[in-house]
Amino acid sequence: MTHKNFKNIDKVTYGRGSFSQLSETIEPVRKENNGDFVFIVDNYFKDKPLSKKLQNKPGDLVYFIDVDAYEPTTEQVDNLRDAILAKNGLPSGVIGIGGGSVMDIAKALSLMLTNEGSSTLYQGLNLVKKAGIYHLGVPTISGTGAEVSMTAVLTGPEKKLGLKCDWTVFNQVILDPELIESVPVDWWFYTGMDTYIHCIESHNGIRNNAFSLAYGDQALQLCREVYLNEDAGQTAENNDKLMVASLMGGLSLTYSEVGVCHAISYGLSKILGTRHCYANCVIFQHLEDIYPQGVKEFKAMVKKHKIALPQNLSKNWDDETLTKMATVSFNLPFMWNHAFGDKYQEIATMDYIKNLFRRL
Ligand code: NAD
Ligand code: ZN
Repeated sequence: MTHKNFKNIDKVTYGRGSFSQLSETIEPVRKENNGDFVFIVDNYFKDKPLSKKLQNKPGDLVYFIDVDAYEPTTEQVDNLRDAILAKNGLPSGVIGIGGGSVMDIAKALSLMLTNEGSSTLYQGLNLVKKAGIYHLGVPTISGTGAEVSMTAVLTGPEKKLGLKCDWTVFNQVILDPELIESVPVDWWFYTGMDTYIHCIESHNGIRNNAFSLAYGDQALQLCREVYLNEDAGQTAENNDKLMVASLMGGLSLTYSEVGVCHAISYGLSKILGTRHCYANCVIFQHLEDIYPQGVKEFKAMVKKHKIALPQNLSKNWDDETLTKMATVSFNLPFMWNHAFGDKYQEIATMDYIKNLFRRL
């Protein structure tokens, strides 16, 4: 198909306090399968008031997941799936309450509960054979756009790649800005900047179009209000805006494409394990020749919030490491094509990409 044909989230609830409507929202879905829900919750909330407000019923399964040790893996999702099915069969649905990591686990789990074998079999585009079960996402940190995307990114033994298909998209999301209030300032910055970079990259490339620009312009405007203008900062009003910016930034790139920063970021994350949003910030500061306006504004935001980004990381990388990272990045042709046009192969050579890594 020449034109992208994207599935959107079925339903969205938005607003302060909207998380309290969770049980009401899922009640009709309890008619499906065994009537129970699986809650995948970021471990941060284990001893926090939110853990008492999950609205889970007896029979529901609640798993608190530590996402700091490593990003979601295929093995982790397979093990969770096996444990859930062994306990009491196919649940009515899965709820993911957390950041991009937890939401990706919930999305992948929903698919793996109905598809046989290991999730490694389904990493890629449209490899999933059957629809998953109902799944609902509740972001507690905003920026990646995982709440709206059609992919669930998992790291497997061979690759870091998403389970990408129409069935991956959430049936429902609940966007409650109160839930992102506790995000530490550095994470608030890195994840928000992921949205900002999504929009800059979506705009600056051959796949941009009126549809992606409309979402991206709105998201950029919201990012400026949250991170740059006079009233910038982690206020209640700005949290309201950031949640919407994340969603719209995700939609902008869905209808366009990401670019150079994300291509380099995947190399860095895959080989050195650097977290996605942080990696993007580390890289984006060095791309002024490619995204002049965006990087200038980004640097003003870094300065305003006194964020210290590391410098001279590459001095510790030998040629083997550089080659491995550059190979991952090189193998994302659609991003280079979007950023540099149809002659991208003449620009984005292995040498060029290695030199981009040397800037870090
Ligand atoms: P995350 O989910 O990894 O969480 C980051 C940190 O914030 C963790 O320590 C977590 O415990 C903490 N946290 C979450 N909510 C909090 C809150 N309300 N208060 C305090 N702390 C809180 O962060 P992320 O950046 O949203 O997600 C990164 C992951 O998302 C990566 O695994 C990446 O691969 C994935 N990703 C997915 C997509 C997609 O489209 N599916 C897009 C980009 C990135
Ligand atoms: Zn991103």
